Amino acid sequence: MPENRKTQERLDPRKPLVFDTREVGRRPGSMKRLRRPVPVPEGLALDLVRVPAGTTLELDVMLESVLEGVLVSTTVTVPLEGECGRCLDPFQDSVEVDIQELYAYPDSETDDTTDEDEVSRLQGDFLDLEPALRDAVVLALPTNPLCRDDCPGLCPDCGVHWDDLPPEHSHDVADPRWAALQNLREPDVKGTQPN
Ligand SMILES: [Zn+2]
Ligand SMILES: [Zn+2]
Repeated sequence: MPENRKTQERLDPRKPLVFDTREVGRRPGSMKRLRRPVPVPEGLALDLVRVPAGTTLELDVMLESVLEGVLVSTTVTVPLEGECGRCLDPFQDSVEVDIQELYAYPDSETDDTTDEDEVSRLQGDFLDLEPALRDAVVLALPTNPLCRDDCPGLCPDCGVHWDDLPPEHSHDVADPRWAALQNLREPDVKGTQPN
């Protein structure tokens, strides 16, 4: 028997995002659909937006046996919370995240010809969906999230939300250049100074 070229890291099958591929078998074309509630991995966040901690994702996963390994496909709805990039109001939203990830069999041609960071690997009969899920969710997070598409933002002069200001709101009168002009005119208007 040739020695195993790679040491197989043991996956903990009790982890919620670890799947046992014995359920699908190794005959190419066979499929298995699995539904499973999973706690969202920690730390899925950008500056202004995050997946709320403690969220449960309802995973509906298709495992498909292919020549080189097991293909995992799923679409998951991920809730988001954050602050609007224009007005800083808190908002809640959700994104649909598509994941399609191949997990190559050990000693398959894919295993021999690709790096592990290019194509994921099965570890024994198990696969860990967490890294793929994590990458897909972070990619789907909006870098400039908005409370709504047409959020008008804040008045740059007073910082009040444009929604809360009358349409004619402006700061023309308080413009310091205008005030300076008014001051220049002051002596002419008032005439001689009182003694
Ligand atoms: Zn906003
Ligand atoms: Zn203003």
